[in-house]
Amino acid sequence: MIIIVLILLGLCFGSFISALVWRLHKQFTVEDKKHPRDYSMLMGRSMCSHCGHRLAARDLVPILSWLSLRGKCRYCHKKIQDSPLTELVTVALFIVSYMAWPYDFNTVGIFLFIIWLPILISLIALFIYDLRHMLLPDRLTFTLFGLTLVQLGGLLVLSGGEINILWNALLGVIALAGFFYLLFQISGGSWIGGGDVKLGLGLGILAGNLAGALLILFLASAIGTLVSIILLLNGRASKKTQVPFGPFLVTAAIVGQLFGPLLIHWYQNQFLLI
Ligand SMILES: [Zn+2]
Repeated sequence: MIIIVLILLGLCFGSFISALVWRLHKQFTVEDKKHPRDYSMLMGRSMCSHCGHRLAARDLVPILSWLSLRGKCRYCHKKIQDSPLTELVTVALFIVSYMAWPYDFNTVGIFLFIIWLPILISLIALFIYDLRHMLLPDRLTFTLFGLTLVQLGGLLVLSGGEINILWNALLGVIALAGFFYLLFQISGGSWIGGGDVKLGLGLGILAGNLAGALLILFLASAIGTLVSIILLLNGRASKKTQVPFGPFLVTAAIVGQLFGPLLIHWYQNQFLLI
């Protein structure tokens, strides 16, 4: 039952993410400021990204509409920009989150899971936006930051005011946002973007402590190195190609949230055996 709810939620929010990324980008780039409401998340109506035709309800059913239209706009017959991949990935991550949830489903665990879903949605949106446009918009990074603050506040209340939670989260923020800020200042913004610093705020709190933050750093670097090598070998990138760091950070944060306790535990065991 929960799985079915998660599948439906994942489909809806996957569509929401596609629209969010596109509209945010349009808000930045469209010259025509006469109709800013068209691209507002609340006021705007869904439209084809080529012909601007308003989409009817039957065009907006996640995945099914795309399949029945064979990926083409009903009105101008051009290829629909957003593939259903976003919806599918969102559904998959919702289900994996539930199956691999590292905490018991007691009050704290349920609270963490419920706040994790919107956090996950903002992470996926950040991933896609940075991948497409090489930018982490403030509205997304600060939304993530706000959500993690709610998570932190909830944990504080549920733990009866355990002050260590606050210190540990602060260490996480220093390890990620502080470190990125340093890199940003030293390199004059060429190694890492200002958006990554702001992303580090939310990810630091999400990591919850120093070990979690270091795990995210390690995973992001490892995944980034691996992907860069593959792109270089495939000839899809040269040494000068700019690769955004955000998608790696986001991937690392999702892996860290779901498998972090397991990975840290495993690592400690290895360490003790030596
Ligand atoms: Zn169209």
